[in-house]
Amino acid sequence: MRISFHTLGCKLNYSETSQLRDQYEKLGHEIVPFGNETDAVIINTCTVTENADTECRKIIRKIQQVSPEAFIGVTGCYAQLKSHEIASIPGVDAVIGTSDKLRIDEIISDYSKRNKPELHVSSVDDAIFSFSQSADEDSRTRAFLKIQDGCDYSCSFCTIPLARGKSRSIDISEIPNRIRQLEEQEYHEIILSGINLGDYSHDDSSFIDVLHLIESLDTKARFRIGSIEPNLVNELILRLIASSNKIVPHLHMPLQSGSQSVLKRMKRRYKISSYYDNLILCKQLMPHACIGADVIVGFPGETDQEYEETFTFIEQLPFSYLHVFTYSERDNTPAANYDDSIPMRIRKLRNARLRALSDAKRRVFYESQIGSSHKVIPESFDESTGFWRGWTENYVRVQFSGTQFLNMQPYAVHLEQYDHVSGTVTSTLLEDPQLNNGYIQLSVI
Ligand code: SF4
Repeated sequence: MRISFHTLGCKLNYSETSQLRDQYEKLGHEIVPFGNETDAVIINTCTVTENADTECRKIIRKIQQVSPEAFIGVTGCYAQLKSHEIASIPGVDAVIGTSDKLRIDEIISDYSKRNKPELHVSSVDDAIFSFSQSADEDSRTRAFLKIQDGCDYSCSFCTIPLARGKSRSIDISEIPNRIRQLEEQEYHEIILSGINLGDYSHDDSSFIDVLHLIESLDTKARFRIGSIEPNLVNELILRLIASSNKIVPHLHMPLQSGSQSVLKRMKRRYKISSYYDNLILCKQLMPHACIGADVIVGFPGETDQEYEETFTFIEQLPFSYLHVFTYSERDNTPAANYDDSIPMRIRKLRNARLRALSDAKRRVFYESQIGSSHKVIPESFDESTGFWRGWTENYVRVQFSGTQFLNMQPYAVHLEQYDHVSGTVTSTLLEDPQLNNGYIQLSVI
């Protein structure tokens, strides 16, 4: 059978689709690119996607134009939360919830069109940890390793705990094996992923134990911490990253708002002062560290003054980039019933202003790195310019010229000049083999 996949949403979803793809491949099915003629399609949905329903309908129409007889299965967070809504979309043959997401090959044996969609959606309360790992979409050298899933928090805007269930984690003893497998597939960078990664917990092991374990492994790969809740970052973790030559100096801590009163309404678990302390300590320990944050604008009741507090907080601190989201109401979340909804026009204006600030921050950070040397894993080659592109360990996007047939391994480069057009830093490959054999030493106070 020919089967294709389509993914919406977060990196974890991509990682899980990749796992599904492997499962079907192992069963002898032919994986065809999405949009080509096929016998079956699995759509992995997301609840964060704006207009998920409209998006789903659009994708299904597209499939039906090319392959009218294809079996269509829909899974993912949106399928878990709105199974009946999805089942009512013409053309859908099965809706599969979170608990069975990575067992679709076991629960669906017949891929013929149905008269009525099958529903395989159970409570997420009993969901167990299902492992997945995948390549970064645009890279042959970076891979995501999911070590945690679900979330026990109750941020007032978020549907993820409803869609993905309680926090659960991979057994720590399995991690070395998984890393070895990724290394054998020639991945040089492994991104530790989870929904609430810092909440990793298995038996007596917590997230810092995972980091200590990685430190003790005989591995050449470098490790990036995907995204970590600010209340779960502490001095021990920061010092460990700072002294590590495996875990890279890049911290992505969702801020969501720089206003204490908004954070309280969001039911976030940290004070703005502790976020500030972590960020400052991180920069003291690792002046070259990249610090990114998610921010939500237009949360119900966000006054001009609260928005300005957020803007000023970010403006004054050494953030390297932001992911800015416009708040949108989600069913079954407390925030959807809050008063004082912000007009969409204002939400968009606030978003645009913060995005401009993010661009400026990124540029300042990139320019601050000019003159330094870093390790880059080449990812893609642009034949028209003759440049390779890749990321440094501290998440600076660089380009450097080199032969098209470069080995996909880490190289030391010297960062020379910010390129406005590509938004990357033009760099030169260092000839020094000594330097190209080891990682740059990081400064620790
Ligand atoms: S920490 Fe908050 S925003 Fe993140 S998944 Fe959990 S509930 Fe959602």
